[in-house]
Amino acid sequence: MTKGVSILGSTGSIGQSTLRVLARHRDRFHVVALTALDSDGLLGEQARESGAAMARVINRTGPEGLIQAATHPDAGIVVNAVVGAAGLKATLAALHAGKRVALANKETLVMAGQLVLCAAREGGGEIVPIDSEHSAVLQCVTGRADRPALPAVPALLRRITLTASGGPFRDWPAERVRDASVEEALNHPTWRMGRKISIDSATLANKALEVIEAHHLFGLGYDDLGVIVHPQSIIHAFVEFVDGSVLSQLGFPNMELPILYALTHPERLADPGVARFDPVQAGPLTFEPVRARDFPLLTLGVEAGRKGGTAAAAFNAANEIAVEAFLMGRIRFGRIAEIVEGTLERHEITDAVTLDSVIEADRRAREDARRLCC
Ligand code: MG
Repeated sequence: MTKGVSILGSTGSIGQSTLRVLARHRDRFHVVALTALDSDGLLGEQARESGAAMARVINRTGPEGLIQAATHPDAGIVVNAVVGAAGLKATLAALHAGKRVALANKETLVMAGQLVLCAAREGGGEIVPIDSEHSAVLQCVTGRADRPALPAVPALLRRITLTASGGPFRDWPAERVRDASVEEALNHPTWRMGRKISIDSATLANKALEVIEAHHLFGLGYDDLGVIVHPQSIIHAFVEFVDGSVLSQLGFPNMELPILYALTHPERLADPGVARFDPVQAGPLTFEPVRARDFPLLTLGVEAGRKGGTAAAAFNAANEIAVEAFLMGRIRFGRIAEIVEGTLERHEITDAVTLDSVIEADRRAREDARRLCC
């Protein structure tokens, strides 16, 4: 019997990579449902090629289409590759239905981490990260007797350090970064990704989202979560244990590997489609501190995570609006961080994280951010 997989956001970068991985393992998996925001012909083509029983265009069905794909009875695994806050309800529905959610939609955990973890506990579902850094951490701690199922606080874990490529502006002077063009910001040095996450990588907002994601997934406090710049994107995370030993996971920057692992965890599957690792070709590997002052979104986001309640949801919402405005050419690159900061200053944090409080925080933050964009 093969395992059924639904892919939310199948026409995006992660969705397409997932379909390539699944096509190499038809003896293990079959595609159940696909969703895309718009229909540009690609969704239909993917559905025909993969034999998916269900395909939903979300601009036509509304969010209900995402829920249908996420809770399809034949799907044991739901790959959530939706961009932004739109993925939250589908993640909750899949977890309530007892599914494994292979999560690329990190905004889900950032907005409502406690709610998502609670849904997994109640419904018997589980979250397995696709994000390369979190997949690396999971691979370093998997198989250890001290580590029960995710999410958990591994008692022997002392610190997690996520690596960041530093994005396209890693070595640019701060004054030049402020006026960077859309084209320059989209030109990521190591990863080929969608537009939203490429901009988030250029501002380092992506790394803030990932720190919050790691906090929820691995249960460490913010003081025990760090970020370091590693321009080659070969080492994806450092996991330090209480005895001082440090484990890492290495690989060429290719999302097909963490996607495959999210499908098979805690097992591994031979895959001729993933390029063999060559240390000589990968090196030399270098590390440097983050220029936190020049890329303020990292600190702003981590501080929002630390404050708890709805602060991280507000950070995420304001960032989505500001990135959209930048991509449409309405604001300068440097304004993204200013708009997020301004929105967070106005945000009154609600401590209780419920679906209602998160959605309301998201709505208010979007309104404030939009006003600041003009
Ligand atoms: Mg990542």
